[in-house]
Amino acid sequence: MKNYRATVDKRVIEAWDAKVAAFERKYGRPRRVLVAALVVGVCWLLYAPSAFALVAMFALVCVLIALQGHSQLSLLCPNCNRPPGGYLARGSGADEEVCVHCYYWLREPPWSRPKQDA
Ligand SMILES: [Zn+2]
Repeated sequence: MKNYRATVDKRVIEAWDAKVAAFERKYGRPRRVLVAALVVGVCWLLYAPSAFALVAMFALVCVLIALQGHSQLSLLCPNCNRPPGGYLARGSGADEEVCVHCYYWLREPPWSRPKQDA
């Protein structure tokens, strides 16, 4: 993350947590099933290579990439209602920490997290 001068607002952080949790409830299990199917499919491909398996794995990867894009475009910043990573961000939208449009923290900033006793 770049060194932004961002605003900390508990309401925005709590709203973001609720949005990410709702998204995870809706798409978490299908994503895990797709990743498991991909692992099984890659093993199948290594054991018995076939054109069908290759096409099926390619389709699975496309669906997983589409799901990541969907998370980027549907998880919007609670403060400004825009995708927090920008429209061309990579990775999952749930991983964003700061909104690049309004500079509000979406997660507890690292310095405000309680230190864990070792
Ligand atoms: Zn924002």
